[in-house]
Amino acid sequence: MAILVCGGAGYIGSHTVYQLIKRGEKVIIIDNLQTGHRRAINPAAKFYEGDIRNFSVLEKIFTENEIEAVIHFAANSLVGESVENPLKYFSNNVGGMQVLLEAMKNFCVDKIVFSSSAAVYGEPEKIPISETDKTSPTNPYGESKLIMEQMIKWIPNLHYVSLRYFNAAGAIESGEIGEAHKIETHLIPLILQVPLGKRDHITIFGEDYPTPDGTCIRDYIHVLDLADAHILALNYLRNGGKSDIFNLGNGKGFSVKEIISAAEKVTAQKIKTEIGMRRAGDPAQLIASSDKAKKILNWTPKFNDVEKIISTAWKWHKNNPEGYSDE
Ligand code: UDP
Repeated sequence: MAILVCGGAGYIGSHTVYQLIKRGEKVIIIDNLQTGHRRAINPAAKFYEGDIRNFSVLEKIFTENEIEAVIHFAANSLVGESVENPLKYFSNNVGGMQVLLEAMKNFCVDKIVFSSSAAVYGEPEKIPISETDKTSPTNPYGESKLIMEQMIKWIPNLHYVSLRYFNAAGAIESGEIGEAHKIETHLIPLILQVPLGKRDHITIFGEDYPTPDGTCIRDYIHVLDLADAHILALNYLRNGGKSDIFNLGNGKGFSVKEIISAAEKVTAQKIKTEIGMRRAGDPAQLIASSDKAKKILNWTPKFNDVEKIISTAWKWHKNNPEGYSDE
């Protein structure tokens, strides 16, 4: 029996595939390579290039392989882009989920681990955020993830775990795969472009937030800790665990300025900054309570030091300044 990983050529997907294979799982990947990278595909996995909205590709995969469960990462994930082009998000994310669920139902595959997001909460009611807190997305990306979570819930006999990630960061320590977005918008990779000489400075998006240093606070979680949580969730479902939703974060917040200082320590270089305007839709603080994942899934994040997280990202970016440069 194999695990189908939708979006296994993307950032978190490729790290999860790596960990699955390390644990002896048989892995099938489907990815349309719209934001994923051919070089990130693990050679030990069987790869189908295709879009999950294309039912016939899914039908082929489910016919040619015995699929036990699905781990679903295949989605667009840029907040700004989703505001400009919401229908892209409703088509790829929501539409993709509908076709995937249809195929799973037809082939009697009854387990799914879904890559959700802290973006489902919107402006938090309290810090840290718990799974029972109000969900009120402030952008189409978060809305699409919330709709996807809700779709899963209504499918009879489907066992699911939805994982709401906070800020994924870092890379595998061996440096084989890492974070590479065709359009980079994330804080840590952008900061590291300064010491790499690819950018003159990092712009801090606002320093007038109600936080101690005025910059936004986020909960950064290492990509391998996220990958491990998917495997724990899969085993939880295999053992008859009940369908549920879990936050994944370190439970500790770092401001933009603190992340820049940590990156200066890791790279041993001064990083030039400029203060810019606030970015639309950015809440001042997002910090997870991950107590539920720790208690029920037995999840223990191994990377709880932000400098350690940044150092794994630095290793990847230093060795691959152009990302997956074959593309
Ligand atoms: N940020 C910033 N400058 C940048 C990119 C991001 O100040 O060039 C801030 C952003 O406003 C947010 C934090 O860094 O407060 C993390 O942003 P990122 O896009 O990495 O993740 P998000 O929290 O949006 O998922």
